[in-house]
Amino acid sequence: MRYGVISDIHSNLIALERVLEALARQAIDSYLCLGDVVGYGARPNECCELLRSLDAVAVVGNHDLAACVPGDERWFTPVARICILWTRQVLTPANREYLVSLPVTTEVDGAHLCHASLADPDAYISSPPETLPSFAMMNHQTCFFGHTHYAEWFERIADAGMPHQNTVPGGATVVLKPGHTYMINPGSVGQPRDQNSQAGFAVLDTDAGTVAIERIGYDIHATQQQIIEAGLPRAMAQRLLTGI
Ligand code: ZN
Repeated sequence: MRYGVISDIHSNLIALERVLEALARQAIDSYLCLGDVVGYGARPNECCELLRSLDAVAVVGNHDLAACVPGDERWFTPVARICILWTRQVLTPANREYLVSLPVTTEVDGAHLCHASLADPDAYISSPPETLPSFAMMNHQTCFFGHTHYAEWFERIADAGMPHQNTVPGGATVVLKPGHTYMINPGSVGQPRDQNSQAGFAVLDTDAGTVAIERIGYDIHATQQQIIEAGLPRAMAQRLLTGI
């Protein structure tokens, strides 16, 4: 089976469409989404509807929950809060229902899926020690996560020692080795923060035992225009250009 893995779309419809076109050329059987479909960007409903049409296996992200559950935005930065309150206003009841119906973690074909960490739905995993609570909970070889908007993977050998961190803003192919376990972040579709402005995604091939982490360019200016026209903070448009 070949799975398209996407995360942190953040209402960036143009980036999502571009990634899905790229995945459609790669004979994908099924789609996995690691959450944060909405927040920051200007097309939350369209992104939800596209994901629903794909029948993606998905988990919920902190922005998805905050867009639906009043009060959750209190943990957000002031700018993120403005975006989430706008998103809450425009989300259709059907899309709200879809987002709140998503689980915090799930398992598919030998892989765990979570938004932030298996152990804590709000934790940021950016360094090897931060992966340890999740590795301790894994009973599959692979766990996919998002939240940090960095394309990278952590590899642990035989349940021992500190995992190795591999940050790959330019993409890479992970070869899944027997006896090793992996935590893999495909990067962000809609708001990369690893200094590469291109949209991130991954392809899990369970027959080949590989995960290809990839990037693709999209029309950033058109997305910026949508953000500005919606009256959302300009900083949300500007950061897309530099990938921060
Ligand atoms: Zn996010």
